[in-house]
Amino acid sequence: MIRITKRVFSDLAIFMMGFGMLVGIVFPFFMALLGMSAAIAFSWWFFTVCILAGLFVGAVNILLAKSIVGQRLILMASKMQQVEQHLKEISGKGEEMECTPEACHLPIDSADAIGSSSRAFNSLVDTLGISLQLEKRMRSYTSMLTSHLETAELCKSALSTLLGMFDLEGGAILVEEGGALKVQASEGLIKQSSLKENAVVLASLQKLKRMSIDLPDDLYVDGVLAAFRPRVVVIQPIVYKSVSLGAIVLASSQEIGDEIGETLDLFSSSFALALHNAVTYAQIQQLAAVDPLTGIYNRRFGLSRLHEEFVRSVKQNSAIGLLMMDADKFKEINDAYGHTVGDRVLQSIASTARRQLRDGDIIARLGGDEFMVVLIGANRSDTITLGESIRRSIEEKRIKWGEQEIRITVSIGAASFPEQDITGEEGLIEAADRALYLVKESGRNRVTI
Ligand code: GH3
Ligand code: MG
Repeated sequence: MIRITKRVFSDLAIFMMGFGMLVGIVFPFFMALLGMSAAIAFSWWFFTVCILAGLFVGAVNILLAKSIVGQRLILMASKMQQVEQHLKEISGKGEEMECTPEACHLPIDSADAIGSSSRAFNSLVDTLGISLQLEKRMRSYTSMLTSHLETAELCKSALSTLLGMFDLEGGAILVEEGGALKVQASEGLIKQSSLKENAVVLASLQKLKRMSIDLPDDLYVDGVLAAFRPRVVVIQPIVYKSVSLGAIVLASSQEIGDEIGETLDLFSSSFALALHNAVTYAQIQQLAAVDPLTGIYNRRFGLSRLHEEFVRSVKQNSAIGLLMMDADKFKEINDAYGHTVGDRVLQSIASTARRQLRDGDIIARLGGDEFMVVLIGANRSDTITLGESIRRSIEEKRIKWGEQEIRITVSIGAASFPEQDITGEEGLIEAADRALYLVKESGRNRVTI
């Protein structure tokens, strides 16, 4: 199209009025052809009237075009500006686009280029909204992933975020632990533990590929997996550096769209990194806190837990009991059966004592054949009772070694706070140590406070 000015509507006006003038000039000749008298047809006033009429039609046309097409273009421009402004306001804040169809969409009421461009504009706005929504979810998901270092907590939060995001009814996260799968989180499922042996889950882990199971309505499903009837189950392996760490299982009573796959890939790869961090963190914690021989806390971690619990007791004015426990004549066991058997005996003391403890109580190996037990909320008499039940259970324990049965006893010195006049956890340790010394002096295999 030839351009005359910088404005499309001005060009259109020039063309329309020029064409009107042309028609006005040609019109008298037509009239003469049709039989109008030449005196009238070619008179100056008839020419003037025809040209003016042509110009008038051109002017009316351009006004109509401006008011019909121009208004639409102005509306389109204002919507675009409105959306742009909104995008500027929310950019970088991770907010969703608050764009209802009424607020951001253009009306589509013509089956032509204007209708098509309005439709294209509306779908552009919708796509932008979806991508901003995904960005917002990704941000909150990432911040959730980085705020958990504990595996079970991380899996629980990730699962509930994923279910909420895809609007699904049930799912589970399985994590590999020592060569076996463990259900770390589950929602809306009944037999989640059966997933650990499920052939499709195992195949997905082996092939490191997402798999899905379609369960059409007419298919009989043996065994009930979920509280609802699943229509589709998606299994997404959690892969870190080409190694599978576990799997995300999502179940839905509705069909799931294909787009979930790509989003799931994106989410599971960031989850894999967070899960790897959590597993590594747990391993480091474990190494730093646990005595490798007995599997209970080591001296450093046990004493730091005692400090925390003592501070808590002082603050909450609650009781705390401490037992210092030492194997009796343990050297003789080592001498008689060897160090390996001695180790077995130490393991047996730790596991037997541990079984007598309540949730929250702490047991640690201080070194050699010496152990420490922290009894949360135990007053003087609870401390003696628990000490006595530990002593008795160890005395009754028979440690099998080939044909032989080895017996061991322990001496226990106890102390309790606040009934005893003690300041600081060092005072508690000293009091229990003194009691232990007295037991050793007076014949062993007893509890003294
Ligand atoms: P007592 O009744 O007075 O406590 O006599 P005891 O023989 O138990 O003497 P003590 O507690 O002083 O001896 C601790 C022994 O534990 C000394 C050491 O050889 C042995 N021991 C220390 N650590 C280990 C270990 O890791 N494994 C084995 N098998 N023995 C250990
Ligand atoms: Mg000893």
